[in-house]
Amino acid sequence: MRWDEILDISSFEEGTVISMITTEGIFRHAEIVKICCPICAEVFIGTKKHAGAFIFGHREYHKWEIEISELM
Ligand SMILES: [Zn+2]
Repeated sequence: MRWDEILDISSFEEGTVISMITTEGIFRHAEIVKICCPICAEVFIGTKKHAGAFIFGHREYHKWEIEISELM
């Protein structure tokens, strides 16, 4: 199953292991995880690889928010 063909991510539960084909390569035994940003409470459900991007994105975004607030 291609990752971009998955329309209903809610059908995945934490701990589900999938294989997927993306433009980056083939991922086998990719575990679905559910994580929540402790600052804004946004929830992400997806593979660990994508969760890492979610964490990095939120970390950088919230750092930026703090930097901006300190300038004002
Ligand atoms: Zn956040």
